[in-house]
Amino acid sequence: METFYDPREGLPRHEWDDWMHQRLGRTVALASRRTAAGRMAVEAAGKPLSDLRWPEDLPQLPLLRKGDLPALQAAEPPFAGWNAVPIEALSRVFVSPGPIYDPEGRIEDYWGFAPALHAAGFHRGDLVLNTFAYHLTPAGHMMDGALAALGCVTIPGGTGNTEVQARTARDLRIRGFIGTPSFLATLLEKMEGPSSFAVAFVSGEMLPDRLRRDLEAQGVRVSQGYATGDVGLIAYECDERSGLHLSPRVFVEIVDPESGAPRPPGAIGEVVITHLSEIYPLLRLATGDLSALEAAPCPCGRGAPRLVRLMGRVGDAVKVRGMFVHPNEVRWAMSRVPEVARYQLVVTREGHQDRLVARVELSSGADPSAAVAAQLRETIKLRADVEVLPPGTLPADAPVIVDERRWD
Ligand SMILES: [Zn+2]
Repeated sequence: METFYDPREGLPRHEWDDWMHQRLGRTVALASRRTAAGRMAVEAAGKPLSDLRWPEDLPQLPLLRKGDLPALQAAEPPFAGWNAVPIEALSRVFVSPGPIYDPEGRIEDYWGFAPALHAAGFHRGDLVLNTFAYHLTPAGHMMDGALAALGCVTIPGGTGNTEVQARTARDLRIRGFIGTPSFLATLLEKMEGPSSFAVAFVSGEMLPDRLRRDLEAQGVRVSQGYATGDVGLIAYECDERSGLHLSPRVFVEIVDPESGAPRPPGAIGEVVITHLSEIYPLLRLATGDLSALEAAPCPCGRGAPRLVRLMGRVGDAVKVRGMFVHPNEVRWAMSRVPEVARYQLVVTREGHQDRLVARVELSSGADPSAAVAAQLRETIKLRADVEVLPPGTLPADAPVIVDERRWD
């Protein structure tokens, strides 16, 4: 049996539940006293705090839909009134797609990934290549903080620069990889010959079983985590690979995405998180991700319940190469290319890579492919191929984004 990063991971289920329930009640009270948005949420419930303490009380508080955060933050900058500390108490502010502004508190491993990396087999002194972005979006720094807490030696690779990263991994005999599963596949291909990667922690994309098998056949043990830019780590895998254990940083509910009603254990629904934080105590953030809770105990000895797996997005935003793509951002990008009359962004999967194709119909003669690709890259930060279609191919009501990926 493995040892835990935090001994509390090994609490039996009833003690785990007690611990979480205490902190849930405290967090609702703290949010209502120290944040304008939390006060409004409690007022909307119309109940005294003593009636808003337990998991079964939570549905009385309104859902905070992730898709509404950009507008809410724009109306009440920078954090829509959810920050419980003044801005000078923060160490960083990140910019996620939307845009959504994400605060980072000034505490060790603020985003909470150290237990997940420990469970994934990362040890003190390991050389680790961190290939998540270090600018604007928080993923790179989320991992960086956890690696520092673990005592790993970080190579801050960031995104892209595939050749340099492959060479560095080979030259330095790097043991650990952090990034998206597709970038790990790309790097392994580039490295030609046996790699020194022994452990990998991946996030930001689906990890189909087939891809995991392909990667592990090359000698890398691959573990995954589930996180959002708003709060950081939500759940992570143990050795059993039987789902993702909830992090004690968040209280998780599974609700019906339409009605917001709680779903019974095992039923699929939208993941709703309450951030048990004294810095950014978001109450009932509806993530738009679909999953289910597994209540049965896990042989690894962790008391936390597990998310069965992640099943995709509730809404029409899709995640491509780890980035959310919102139809509104595609609309905005296309609106800047006057030659485009109709358009549709198609997401497909080739091998282990997401592929984006922008299909466009023209209103005038000049081929705008380069401009379309440039605008998309600027807006959604992703590279797309452009296909020009004969006029009349796309129906007037064609959906802006079509996700044609199939997950085995
Ligand atoms: Zn387990």
